[in-house]
Amino acid sequence: MLKLKNIRKTYKIGDIETIALDGIDISFREKEFVAILGASGSGKTTCLNIIGGLDRYDSGEMTIKGKETKDFKEKDWDAYRNNSIGFIFQSYNLITHLSIVANVELSLTLSGVSPAEKRKKALNVLEKVGLKDHLHKKPNQLSGGQMQRVAIARALVNDPEILLCDEPTGALDTATSIQIMELIKEIAKDRLVIMVTHNPEIANEYADRIVQFKDGNIISDTNPYVEESKTDGFNLKKTSMSFFTALNLSFNNIMTKKGRTFLTAFASSIGIIGIAIILSLSTGFQVQIDKFQGDAMAEFPIIMSQTSTQMTEENLNEVSGQIPIGNKKEYVSSDEIFLYDPNENSFVHKNIFTNDFMDYLNKIDPNICSSIGYTRLVNMNLVRKLDDKVIPVSISSGMASMATESRMSNMSSMQNAGLSSYPIQLNKTEGNYLEKNYELIYGNYPQNERDLVLVVDTKNRINFQTLKNLGFDTLDTQNIKFKDIVGVEFKAILNNDYYMKTEFGTYLPDTDYEKMYNSEDSITLRIAGIVRQSPESNLGILSAGIAYSDELSQFIIDKAVESDIVKDQKQVDYNIMTKKEFSSDEKDSFLSVLGGNATPFMVMVYPYSFEDKDAVAAYLDNYNAGKPKEDVIVYTDLAKTISNMTGGIMNGITLVLIAFAAVSLIVSLIMICIITYTSVLERTKEIGILKSLGARKKDITRVFDAETCILGIFSGVLGVTIAMLCTIPINQVILKAADLKDVAQLKISYAIILVIVSTVLTMLGGHIPARMASKKDAVEALRSE
Ligand code: ADP
Ligand code: MG
Repeated sequence: MLKLKNIRKTYKIGDIETIALDGIDISFREKEFVAILGASGSGKTTCLNIIGGLDRYDSGEMTIKGKETKDFKEKDWDAYRNNSIGFIFQSYNLITHLSIVANVELSLTLSGVSPAEKRKKALNVLEKVGLKDHLHKKPNQLSGGQMQRVAIARALVNDPEILLCDEPTGALDTATSIQIMELIKEIAKDRLVIMVTHNPEIANEYADRIVQFKDGNIISDTNPYVEESKTDGFNLKKTSMSFFTALNLSFNNIMTKKGRTFLTAFASSIGIIGIAIILSLSTGFQVQIDKFQGDAMAEFPIIMSQTSTQMTEENLNEVSGQIPIGNKKEYVSSDEIFLYDPNENSFVHKNIFTNDFMDYLNKIDPNICSSIGYTRLVNMNLVRKLDDKVIPVSISSGMASMATESRMSNMSSMQNAGLSSYPIQLNKTEGNYLEKNYELIYGNYPQNERDLVLVVDTKNRINFQTLKNLGFDTLDTQNIKFKDIVGVEFKAILNNDYYMKTEFGTYLPDTDYEKMYNSEDSITLRIAGIVRQSPESNLGILSAGIAYSDELSQFIIDKAVESDIVKDQKQVDYNIMTKKEFSSDEKDSFLSVLGGNATPFMVMVYPYSFEDKDAVAAYLDNYNAGKPKEDVIVYTDLAKTISNMTGGIMNGITLVLIAFAAVSLIVSLIMICIITYTSVLERTKEIGILKSLGARKKDITRVFDAETCILGIFSGVLGVTIAMLCTIPINQVILKAADLKDVAQLKISYAIILVIVSTVLTMLGGHIPARMASKKDAVEALRSE
């Protein structure tokens, strides 16, 4: 049934060629015990390996049950080794990290037998070889004879047609050898057994037929067999190993080196730990920043002011939103210096709020902009009746003095000064600015434009001067009751009643306050309530003192424009009250103070949210588009400047840190490669054994893939767990340092992704050595120690 014809096999080491088999012709019967006898190096093992399909012949023919092996594919060889061949080696070749039963079950595992059946068959053969009591021992707990019995059991468990034994008693003492030989002889009763030995006594004692080898040739055969050619439906059952079996095999292997596996997993998890911590910190900080932006800056207005600013072409573009603010400076490389006239490149820009612009602004979508605030320089002429005496009073408006002396375009100076009128609500359904940002501590919120409110600070304090100017007695007292303030009435006096024209054509404030008070044109104003900034509010733009609605100032301006003093002032270039010459802007400012200028000094647009702010900016940019630079409206979006900075910094930091962590991930990937590679080297013998049992290349790759898979999952989980533990002290430090709670938090989704990334990368890193392992030559692998 097995026929070798003219089989030649040579090995080459460097340039030297060794002839292992030199044209062997031999046939075997279906059932016989053949001993191949010969000195060392005569080619016995090579011949056996070729019969077992572990090695390939160079030329010649091998026929199994009439089927020519020339046509065998890789998987046919695997199936042949698994189903038809049982190997017994001189050095047992057991897998040391598997128990006795597991070793025996291994070839059944490869042929895909169910666990219950596997166990039954394994117990059966183990009983036959007399090892029933040692099932769960590891090979190194057995004697040599017992190990060889395990090897025999493993070879027999698949009930192979051919048993190949390479010096099965070579490593055993005489007494044990006899037992083993008796066992093999017993087995040979119902199959072909080919045994290689250099011991003529053993061959003579047990074998039915002795074939003598010398220098790769047959020199004698005691019972030659000439095969009649016949084909008897030789069928091979394909082997297959499931990934789960591979996992099981690798898991057992990993368990034998727990310490090393843990260290490896820990080392390779460092990259994962790094990335996990960075991600949890950066998402945490981003959440904090977003919250802060939402809380603190979303309502920051976009500010446009009539003040003149010195600007260059570039920063005009910048502040009018045409290029993003950043630190991108352009540098020129040159060996010359360039001369320029600063007057040509820079200019004084003044926002001119034309009627067109004001109309455009008023048409803004109330869904993106909650309110618009105006600052007007108009001074209100106020009188108050106190104990039947009418006296002049004033609500100190920081703006009037400021407009003339300083250029203000930023938030800090605005907040220092504060505003006196609160913004106009565009969307009537939303809570109004005052109610949203200021809590009422006494009286009522204003019901109409003639109601005033007194704004105090969080400690209910107010500058004594403010109340003194309003006619309150601040000399003998430190505190004034709410009820003494709320309900107090003033009268706003129109310019025509307030100023009188002198014979020189100038104007002077009148002093007949009684008359003013009683004039039918006077407007009664009343302090309706006392408010202060509420704790939730981030946008207290009102200065301490009296605050009023913009409608009131507009009403007063409407009247003032018609007044004599304004009309006359417009005609002349000197101060109509003092006759002093004006310099540059002074006339405009003075007119504004008198109420002769209907356009506001400053406009503030309040968006609802950050996104809305961008929409508002886009709306303004749209107005600017295509306008010559002097007509452009320059606006300041302070929040954008701040958030651009924070967002950019955050992204930058995260990227840099992730890059660092990625480096450690790459390092650990390389490490995994090396470790898998050493594992391959270490397990070379196991690869050989698996192959001799009929494992396919795929199965070998799987075993190592399974190992790196376990390692990857373990190091991923370990990394994520360590990172999560690290967030506890990190959060404590951040809480102490920055007073932010629970900043570092690893999202579950990130954790899962990181474990997957770790597994995939580790498997990738281990796959190349795994492929190398699968390509290892079985004979070579078995030779290695
Ligand atoms: P035996 O088993 O009879 O001692 P082998 O079949 O192992 O002999 O070896 C036959 C010849 O082939 C020897 O000269 C040996 O050195 C050579 N040989 C066997 N295997 C290899 C190999 N893998 N590489 C190179 N030479 C080999
Ligand atoms: Mg040998």
